[in-house]
Amino acid sequence: MRILVVEDERKVGNFVKKGFEEEGYAVDIAGDGEQGLFLIETNEYDLIILDWMLPKRDGPSVLKHLRATGVTTPVIMLTARDAVQDEIQGFDSGADDYLTKPFEFAVLLRRARALFRRGKSDLPTVLLAGDLRMDLLGRKVTRGGKPIDLTAKEYSLLEYLMRNAGMVLTRTSIAEHVWDVHFDSDSNVIDVYVNYLRNKIDRPFGSKLLQTVRGVGYVLKA
Ligand code: CA
Repeated sequence: MRILVVEDERKVGNFVKKGFEEEGYAVDIAGDGEQGLFLIETNEYDLIILDWMLPKRDGPSVLKHLRATGVTTPVIMLTARDAVQDEIQGFDSGADDYLTKPFEFAVLLRRARALFRRGKSDLPTVLLAGDLRMDLLGRKVTRGGKPIDLTAKEYSLLEYLMRNAGMVLTRTSIAEHVWDVHFDSDSNVIDVYVNYLRNKIDRPFGSKLLQTVRGVGYVLKA
């Protein structure tokens, strides 16, 4: 899952980025409305966290532009104001949720997860690939009933592979969904993480679910 935070207050932006990264999400930050729009047009995000008051172009204006151009990515609007009128305006401009600053990260995380689920309400809360099982609500992974302990990034990579089980995924598409804009496409970080995953989900079990497609990328056997 990849998230864009459009926030000019560096402290708030970094706080949100750090929080989501600790949960295994990839996070980009834009410091003003125009940069936000540029990043949205050039990347694929699963969620946008949009501050109300922004330089160059404010949050409601960014959001109106997005919705007018058919971008349906869920948006959580942040604001320091708490007037009811603003809240109504926030939803009118197409926000999916609304959070008043200051807020606890745990609250934002809960709202974000609710939106991920709502946006894809037909998706199950458990992902399966062979005897590998991922419980999305409890964030637990087991294979053949045995618990597997994953880091946040490994979990995030496996979630993307499991959501697309049976499909060959290129390194580019993995990078777009699991890493942020600073991802260095010349690095072998994806291969390194795939190897970490293999050591946990495949090696101890003696059969390979995660396979390399030479010259293309990776596929998790459905
Ligand atoms: Ca602001």
